[in-house]
Amino acid sequence: MEKGIVFSIEEFSVYDGPGIRTTVFLKGCPLHCMWCHSPEGQSFAPEMIRSPNGCLHCDACIKKGIELTGQPQIVKESAAVCPRNLIRQAGDEYSVEELVVKLKKNAAILNASGGGVTFSGGEPLRQPRFLNACLKALDGVMHRAIQTSGFSSPRIFSEIMKNSDYFLFDLKLMDPNKHLYYCGQSNAVILENYRILAASGKEFITRIPVIPTVNDTEENLTATAAFMKENQVKKVELLPYHKLTGSKYAMTGRKYAPEFDETIPPQLHPEIFENYGIEVNVL
Ligand code: SF4
Ligand code: SF4
Repeated sequence: MEKGIVFSIEEFSVYDGPGIRTTVFLKGCPLHCMWCHSPEGQSFAPEMIRSPNGCLHCDACIKKGIELTGQPQIVKESAAVCPRNLIRQAGDEYSVEELVVKLKKNAAILNASGGGVTFSGGEPLRQPRFLNACLKALDGVMHRAIQTSGFSSPRIFSEIMKNSDYFLFDLKLMDPNKHLYYCGQSNAVILENYRILAASGKEFITRIPVIPTVNDTEENLTATAAFMKENQVKKVELLPYHKLTGSKYAMTGRKYAPEFDETIPPQLHPEIFENYGIEVNVL
């Protein structure tokens, strides 16, 4: 039985596809977007995270790490000694069966709302065997959506596409060099998978996280709209950058260092998409 690493399960979400949904966040992502709002989802391995809010600075968590490993670090056992309950593991192993049983519990409510399950991340396509097995097990049980950066081999992408009902596909930057700089990888395979999805007839929505001075330029948004039109896509959702994005980084021991001015509100330019006949929804 396939197993996967899940770092969060959020119930009754209304932003991750049609209707009311359970969103399952699979751990691990090959991209490193400078504005990533899920730093705990980036590495593939489970990790301990510590909330800084309400910390007594008693060091009981670190002392436990020293006791067990000889290193000043937070370990799994640190969670039990924290008087404020601020430590948890991000990344739990699930078998397909365990996850499917959990998801099925709310299936009737979700189905009645026109919703279902959304697999997100991290990048869910990077746990393809586990994801595919879950999708197959949920066939006919509930509506199955995939929220993806599109960064995956076209073979895996096509296989997952066959076993799912809906996609939420992010387009971040059209210029491959800028994509490499800001997201850590070129966008070539992302655009290839987008073309495959658009040509497949599968229902999907394009999402653009709009980041101030990075991808909110007229040049990038015009190139994005032209690419969507070329693929006969008629709807887009814009997600304006949120200043609170950096707040989770302290929990994971990572540093949030965006190379853009996050105090500037992002320029959404809905008219650029509308001029290409694309309907805009701002989330
Ligand atoms: S044990 Fe808890 S309260 Fe104490 S330092 Fe660690 S996180 Fe803070
Ligand atoms: S693709 Fe999503 S999860 Fe991956 S680094 Fe970018 S924002 Fe984070």
